[in-house]
Amino acid sequence: MPEHGQTQSFDLIVIGGGSGGIATARRAAEYGANVALVAASPLGGTCVNVGCVPKKVMWNASHIREAVDLARDYGFSVDMKGFDWSLLKRKRDAFIKRLNAIYSRNLDMSGVTVIDGYGRFAAPYTVEVGQQSLSAEHIVVATGGQPVVPDIPGAEYGITSDGFFELEQQPAQVLVIGAGYIATELAGVLNGLGSDVTILLRKHTLLRSFDATLRETVMEESQRQGINILTCVHLQELTREDDGKLGLQGGDGEKLGGFDAVIWAVGRQPNTAGLGLETAGILLDEKGFIPTDDYQNTAVPGIYAVGDVTPRVQLTPVAIAAGRKLADRLFGGQQDARLDYDTIASVVFSHPPIGTVGLTEEQAAETWGHDAVKTYQSRFTNMLFALSEHRTPTVVKLVTVGAQEKIVGCHIVGEAADEIIQGFAVAVKMGATKADFDATVAIHPTSAEELVTLR
Ligand code: FAD
Ligand code: NDP
Repeated sequence: MPEHGQTQSFDLIVIGGGSGGIATARRAAEYGANVALVAASPLGGTCVNVGCVPKKVMWNASHIREAVDLARDYGFSVDMKGFDWSLLKRKRDAFIKRLNAIYSRNLDMSGVTVIDGYGRFAAPYTVEVGQQSLSAEHIVVATGGQPVVPDIPGAEYGITSDGFFELEQQPAQVLVIGAGYIATELAGVLNGLGSDVTILLRKHTLLRSFDATLRETVMEESQRQGINILTCVHLQELTREDDGKLGLQGGDGEKLGGFDAVIWAVGRQPNTAGLGLETAGILLDEKGFIPTDDYQNTAVPGIYAVGDVTPRVQLTPVAIAAGRKLADRLFGGQQDARLDYDTIASVVFSHPPIGTVGLTEEQAAETWGHDAVKTYQSRFTNMLFALSEHRTPTVVKLVTVGAQEKIVGCHIVGEAADEIIQGFAVAVKMGATKADFDATVAIHPTSAEELVTLR
């Protein structure tokens, strides 16, 4: 430990102990760099503590609930005798604590010095954490983001996804405001676990940026499963009623009430406040993100940014891959290493889930013109539901371009889409054509086989 007032020097300082920060720090340390990681909150960041991981636990829980319902169609006599939200939360929290400890051990094993606290630039190459002063030739900002809460009267009555993961009791009546990944996933989970859920959209559809087949199927299935979807509502105010329940007032006189919880899921904003970026000479873009070039360089030499604090796809594997490539470039002798942000697959853990990679039909038509685009699509029932009254659909779609029918988009919604898409993402990334898919012998009986038998 340096004496008070002394500056400790490193090869690399990483600010932020989330997906991107940890990946960068460990990879750099594995190359022999002397690395400090400054972490303001539990290790693992958003993904581990209030994102992917607890969300997937909750999605698994509601998936199990669906499986119990299905079991009856397969001859099992099962009674749903209840669901203990607080038990699930305790077990989920304990799992996350174990993960925090694993991250800590891994950083330790890689030789990274972890410094708890908020980092801020005191000068371009100096970071202060409380009373400690650190300096390095290379500094990575990986401070991630936080949920947006709109500035309307009563907004404070709502919680965000962070608050959702703190809920000790299951709310009976829930209003979810938003239209993206988080709104769709949390609404589906709560509905699956038995809450009465309303989603409020300011436009016409959930998941507007997704291919039409995906968003239409998820909207249709969400409504069939009992989620109330209100479209084109311009929210003016959240209110607290005399009985303590929450309500809303819309711009066209709409009034709704009786909610135990209101969840804001209207996007996320980068964590840049208080970082002293101006001291380092870093300017933000119009939305408050740190702009970088293709190599994660900011405008200031030696200062880089990765993950959700940059204006790119906000996904854990993206933050990790960008951070590792940066470390490969700075300390691994790979001068041209950089993440290719093109054709990144993602999953929405809806009910049923979405797996998607590449362009939507609309995006392909905008890029190459309508005449160059040919799509193939099929809607069918996964055999899992063959014995059930309601046959949850699976829809698969390929978007191809040109005479070669190069596949530029592959979209799946249905049971197991979340697991199926990864393999197809490899093929799309490699530039597969429709003929390559056709030349692949199907695996029967599966849903995935439909993608290689489309006509
Ligand atoms: P973060 O993980 O946010 O880490 C940044 C860290 O830096 C945080 O711990 C923060 O406290 C810390 N920090 C901030 N300021 C400072 C400072 N000044 N000094 C020190 N530390 C600081 N992605 C997926 O790929 N799959 C999913 O299923 C998925 N589900 C999600 C579900 C939810 C509810 C949410 C909110 C997100 C989800 N994401 C998912 C997105 C994913 O969590 C993020 O893309 C990812 O965590 C970004 O990593 P990051 O390292 O950029 O930032
Ligand atoms: P998203 O950007 O996915 O969606 C937010 C949407 O909410 C907007 O697109 C907009 O849709 C709508 N919206 C914005 N403002 C308002 C408003 N004032 N009132 C009503 N609706 C509004 O943000 P999320 O917060 O859902 O998620 C953030 C990011 O985290 C995602 O983009 C994703 O990258 C990541 N994530 C990934 C997951 C995964 O991989 N499975 C899961 C969860 C998050 P419109 O314009 O159509 O109204």
